[in-house]
Amino acid sequence: MNPIFRDMPTTIFEATSARARATGAVNLGQGFPDGPRNETVIAAAAAALHERSNQYPPSGGLPELRAAVARWYGRQQGLALDPDGIVVTSGATEALAASLLALIAPGDEVLLFEPLYDAYLPLVLRAGGTPRPVRLTLPSGRIDRAQLAASIGPRTRLCVVNDPLNPLGTRAAEADLAFLAEVCIAHDIIAICDEVWEALVYDGAAHRSLMSFPGMEERTVKIGSAGKIFGLTGWKVGWMCAASPLARVLAKAHQFLTFTTPPNLQWAIAEGLDSQDAWIATACREHQSSRDFLTEGLAAIGLAVLPSAATYFVTVDLRASGITIPDTQFCELIIDHARVAAIPVSAFYAGAPETHLVRFCFAKERATLAAALSGLAEALAVPGLLRD
Ligand code: PMP
Repeated sequence: MNPIFRDMPTTIFEATSARARATGAVNLGQGFPDGPRNETVIAAAAAALHERSNQYPPSGGLPELRAAVARWYGRQQGLALDPDGIVVTSGATEALAASLLALIAPGDEVLLFEPLYDAYLPLVLRAGGTPRPVRLTLPSGRIDRAQLAASIGPRTRLCVVNDPLNPLGTRAAEADLAFLAEVCIAHDIIAICDEVWEALVYDGAAHRSLMSFPGMEERTVKIGSAGKIFGLTGWKVGWMCAASPLARVLAKAHQFLTFTTPPNLQWAIAEGLDSQDAWIATACREHQSSRDFLTEGLAAIGLAVLPSAATYFVTVDLRASGITIPDTQFCELIIDHARVAAIPVSAFYAGAPETHLVRFCFAKERATLAAALSGLAEALAVPGLLRD
């Protein structure tokens, strides 16, 4: 048995959702939305099951979907991608696994920015890489340039960049992306860019990929997820985009992981990417207003909320809220006493974690968010329970 997996706990998301189901708590833990539902895309998937092929699609993905992904990035982000450099995967998770397995040679060092999405560390280790964690400055999510420079050595081959960032909901500053691009070029580093939250950026901002910086096109793997774009997280349709020579290597790792992804879902996402720009923009505005509702509600009950520029998440700063217990204990207590599940941000660190931040998912019905807020208000009012 491999000790990386044998000794690892179940993911915090799975464990928290299970606990929320068992206790009847409002689940603001795992990042899945209550809505809106895209009926066009769902109907297209249902129709394709009956009317189109249910046999293995090409391993790289249906040509219709690869072309639609390229067109969508052209319209949304001004990128000129070659569909031949796009490989469809079973979610962004598989794209991450395939990229890391394909690009890490044993002993290669991989830069990871903390707080980090939980899949990165075990995948880097299992692929034989040596993780080099670099801490982002809190709460801004800015890159500490001196720390980054000190983490680079002759074996550094890759960096994993999550922008927008789960858990904090921050977006990388343009100047940080420009700096990262310079670093990647100077040290011959390939950037694996996990951009699954690219369609959920708020306040009129536009996502810009590291791939679009000069010299980065041939050294970037850009990963996306239809699960996030259409709020269909259970579908697990994702992709990785890279210059053709890199994409050919990625495709070889993908062919022995899942080989392919259900064809009806691929047709439906192709149709959605080509026809649903207006729906995607409206969904984004609805999530932004849920963000505002939860942010204002949390502030009104005395919790300090960090600004969220993207994703489905807002972060509460316990320390700034006058709460001294660690995030894990806070999350345990609010499941039992507020009937609310949330995620401790300490779960997103490879080394000694920050323990004063808690992540809440706002992509829920207003009534659900209101129920969570009143449960939290009750728990906060109990003397000595959450605050001294
Ligand atoms: N990367 C990040 C940063 C995520 O937040 C998620 C989903 N929560 C994923 C990857 C996984 O995406 P998928 O469901 O498409 O596998």
